[in-house]
This record gives sequence, structure tokens and C-alpha cells, in this order.
Amino acid sequence: MLRPRILTISNQKGGVGKTTTTVNLGAALCERGRRVLIVDTDPQANATSGLGYPAGSFERSVYDVLVLGQPLPDTILPVPSVPGLSLVPASLALAGAELELADLARREYRLRYALEAIAGYDYVLIDSPPSLALITVNCLVAADAMLIPLQCEYYALEGLSLLTHTHGLITQELNPGLELAGIVMTLFDPRTLLSAQVVAEVRRRFPEQTFATLIPRTVRLSEAPSHGLPITLYDPSGRGSTSYRALADELLARDALVAA
Ligand code: ATP
Ligand code: MG
Repeated sequence: MLRPRILTISNQKGGVGKTTTTVNLGAALCERGRRVLIVDTDPQANATSGLGYPAGSFERSVYDVLVLGQPLPDTILPVPSVPGLSLVPASLALAGAELELADLARREYRLRYALEAIAGYDYVLIDSPPSLALITVNCLVAADAMLIPLQCEYYALEGLSLLTHTHGLITQELNPGLELAGIVMTLFDPRTLLSAQVVAEVRRRFPEQTFATLIPRTVRLSEAPSHGLPITLYDPSGRGSTSYRALADELLARDALVAA
């Protein structure tokens, strides 16, 4: 059976659309017939609750995998509203995991080993926390490629420099094969000049890597998680859904080129 392609959705900055992208790109890929496993590694557990699993509604989480070394398949939950989508949930216990991981052997490789035998999925999408600490390092070491959501704001490029630096360190030390799956511009507001300027600058600096699809800032995208639904179900014909479907199609086209 083919190994899935493993993408980590990473940016050390908070609130840039990592979780929103993980959940909605995952759902859009499922609409295109792909089987997707979302792995939530953020103690905030936003992807988990956003897919209909509030805290306390499940027994095991990615904490049991990372810290206790339990088999990852035992933690997988179905997402019944989205055919093809499954979830490894996060829990608050993860908040202490940074300290616990620090003392473990091969502490950067725990998620990689846990995902090694995973089969039956086309994509694994890892939602990572807003930090560069050990959990995030585990995500970067487990992944084939990193997908970077970048908010259309003034500091975007500075954040991007730090991210490319991190990418360099990880490829030197821990995961030489880590690719850059792409940069997706999020929270785009067509009414502001700043949004357009930031997009133009990021495209100038990273012409190949930046996705053509822009994710607009929409109220619907921010409302969907409180209903436990991805945007493709909460507002199927709105701009949020259209943009995440376009992103899924762009990603599939790029990966078809990689595979060829
Ligand atoms: P954290 O670093 O805290 O994990 P994050 O990078 O995962 O944050 P999100 O949780 O996806 O970011 O988004 C931050 C907030 O912005 C959330 O309230 C989310 O609903 C909202 N949001 C994200 N993308 C959009 C969008 N395109 N339009 C409107 N609201 C959005
Ligand atoms: Mg998040």
C-alpha cells in the first residue's frame, strides 16, 4: 500500500491560519476523493474541537502517542460529516509534553516513528502549535514537506525569514528530505493596499513556492469551527470554500508533478 504524503502546516507565529488551513484543506481534499488524516499536535486542540470533538469527548490523543509511545492507529477518530476524513485529536495533556519529551530518547523523532507504518491515506496533514519547540520539531521531522500559511500583514516577510532559517536547520540536522510544499497567503483583505503589497512582495521573493490561491478573510471561515464543521459543509458555496477547494486543486497538481 502506498505511503501517504505527510504535510505539516507550520508557522511559529500565532493566529495566521494554520488550523483553519489544516481543517479546510483537509475537507477540500476529501471532496476530491482523497483520504486524509489530520493530526492535531497543538495543546489548544482547535482542529480537534473544530471537527466536532470537544475536550473530554474522546479517550486517547496524540499525547499518548508522543509521550507514552502508544500506537497512533489506536487514537484515530472518524469525522462522520466528511467522508474520507479522520483525526488524531489533541488534548490539554499536551501542554506538559514539551517538558516530558525533553527527557525521552530520540525526542525529535517520536511523531515520525509513530507515522511510519500508517497506511490507507493519501495525505496526512499535521496542525502544529505556534512555537518552534519540540512538538513543532517533531512535526517538521515527521513530514515530507512543510506548508506555510502566511498572514497578509506587515510582518509577514520577517516571519518568513525565520521559517526558511528553521527549514534550513531541520534539513541540515534532522530531516534532510523536508521539502517546502508551498506558501499560502491567508486572511487576505482585498480592500486594503497592504494585503496586495504583502502578496506582491512574497510572490516576488518566492515565485515558485507561493500558491496562486489567496485565502480571503471571511466571517464564515471564523464561524465554522464553532459548529464543528469545515467550511465546505458550513458554507459550501461561499468564498472560503471556493478558495480552499482551489488550494486543494493547486496542491494536487503540484504533487502530481512531484510524483511524475
Ligand atoms: P494558533 O497559532 O493559535 O494555532 P492558527 O495559526 O492555527 O492559530 P487559526 O486558528 O486558523 O490560526 O486562525 C486564527 C483566528 O483567525 C481564528 O479565530 C480563525 O477562526 C480566524 N481565521 C483564520 N483564517 C481566517 C479567514 N480566512 N477569515 C476569517 N477568519 C479567519
Ligand atoms: Mg492553530
